[in-house]
Amino acid sequence: MSGLGKGIVASSVAKLLQLTGLKVTCTKIDPYVNYDAGTMNPTAHGEVFVTDDGGECDMDMGNYERFLNTPMTKWHNITTGRIYSDVIKAEREGKYLGQCVQIIPHVTDVIKNTLKNLAKGHDVLVVECGGTVGDIESLPFLESFRQMELEVGDTETLFIHVTLAPILDVVGEQKTKPTQHSVQELRRIGIHPYILAVRCQKPLNRDARHKISMFASIREQCVISCHDCSSIYDVPEILKDQGIIDVISDKFDLKSRNIKWAEWKNVANSFFNSSGNVNIGIVGKYVNLPDSYVSVYQALLHSSAKSGKKLSVDWIDSERFENGNQNEVKLLNKYDGILVPGGFGTRGSEGIINSIKYARKKNIPFLGICFGFQLSLIEFARNQCGMTDASSQEFNPKDNNSLVKFMPEQEHTVNLGGSMRLGKHDITIVPSTFADRIYQNNKIQRRHRHRYEFNQDYRKTIEESGMVLSGHSDKGRRIEILEIPSNKFFFAVQYHSEFSSIPGKPEEAFEAFITSCI
Ligand code: GLN
Repeated sequence: MSGLGKGIVASSVAKLLQLTGLKVTCTKIDPYVNYDAGTMNPTAHGEVFVTDDGGECDMDMGNYERFLNTPMTKWHNITTGRIYSDVIKAEREGKYLGQCVQIIPHVTDVIKNTLKNLAKGHDVLVVECGGTVGDIESLPFLESFRQMELEVGDTETLFIHVTLAPILDVVGEQKTKPTQHSVQELRRIGIHPYILAVRCQKPLNRDARHKISMFASIREQCVISCHDCSSIYDVPEILKDQGIIDVISDKFDLKSRNIKWAEWKNVANSFFNSSGNVNIGIVGKYVNLPDSYVSVYQALLHSSAKSGKKLSVDWIDSERFENGNQNEVKLLNKYDGILVPGGFGTRGSEGIINSIKYARKKNIPFLGICFGFQLSLIEFARNQCGMTDASSQEFNPKDNNSLVKFMPEQEHTVNLGGSMRLGKHDITIVPSTFADRIYQNNKIQRRHRHRYEFNQDYRKTIEESGMVLSGHSDKGRRIEILEIPSNKFFFAVQYHSEFSSIPGKPEEAFEAFITSCI
């Protein structure tokens, strides 16, 4: 079922294989009919992760990058929508002339070819299939895997089934029935799992492991306990300690089983070596599901781990601070730092502006990202430059003179899917600014996902009041970074720094923010 942690299991297995010296990549299959994740609500489906090449992807792609330290592309996130769109395009081009196009073999062939193409140049492709066994949506994918095993042989394919062993009563017995039934369901489809990764609260006890092994007919050493742990970066070790690499290596007849462990172990350990807390308040629109900002959380975590502090985050709904509740904003005083992440639409935006004002005036370290950057400009213009009606065209579409306005190339956009300014772009850093100090580079590349930007007609007004625009792109046409040098730390970026942070090597803006908070 969803939320079980398939992404972390897939990333961890991939990481272990990578640490044995193999060239590994991952792909995520999302069986929904959307072409990509870009038009989905983050509070229902989690964050939209953006790749260098501008893919709007499932959040598991972020886990792959963070574990493997290898950039993914939009092609690594496969959806039913994309597969069908490829099939229909080929049909229109006459590639299936004379044939009746069917799920088997045409759709399944496209799935298999897509996977084979992704695997090219790699030793291992870890394929994560979302959804629950038995869902109608995932059937064509599971059928493709079944065929693939038949075609390439079972020494080239290995199935790991992620299941659940819940504890339902006070006695604490681990229930094995859901796992047993799930394995039966998968077998009915023609797939025989080789390894079971059993999600459970506490380490799987001997009885439960034995029972699962016997009833599911899977060797005991292939029943792996994936119990809850305090850091996702600890999961590779949990799997390794149960011998998963030996099991996989035996099956694939792999020579090298030595895991180069030291460096990763150091990184994983850094999440435990903490002395004291750093408390961050995240004020956003989608806080009822913290997964909406999973990369932001991870980037904060990477930075606090590097600084030896334990991260504590409160997710604060920005709507709390508007409609006459402005005074509530004072509760932000207890945080070491305030962060405003990305967002879309009017709801909650005035509450965010109130929080930014509070952070700026109280000199609390502040980091703004994308929407957070745009609303920082609006707050500053309203309260520091006397532009009391400053706003964004996102909230007043008819106002062409807004402080934050539609990017010119966005004005005539008809389709909403995949049409924002997306992916990696070059950013020039202005010398002798705070940005220059933290990036120590006059050019960086970061990922984007937006339709609106700062209207440079107001540049002089903003700069004269003490805000510094310290990064730009597209030959100066676009402002990417702002800072207020008279504050301890007030920094906001139009791009999404969070997508460029990996454990052990946090993104610079996040690292500087956490350092300042500490
Ligand atoms: N809604 C804003 C825009 O489209 C900000 C987007 C974001 O935060 N990712 O420009």
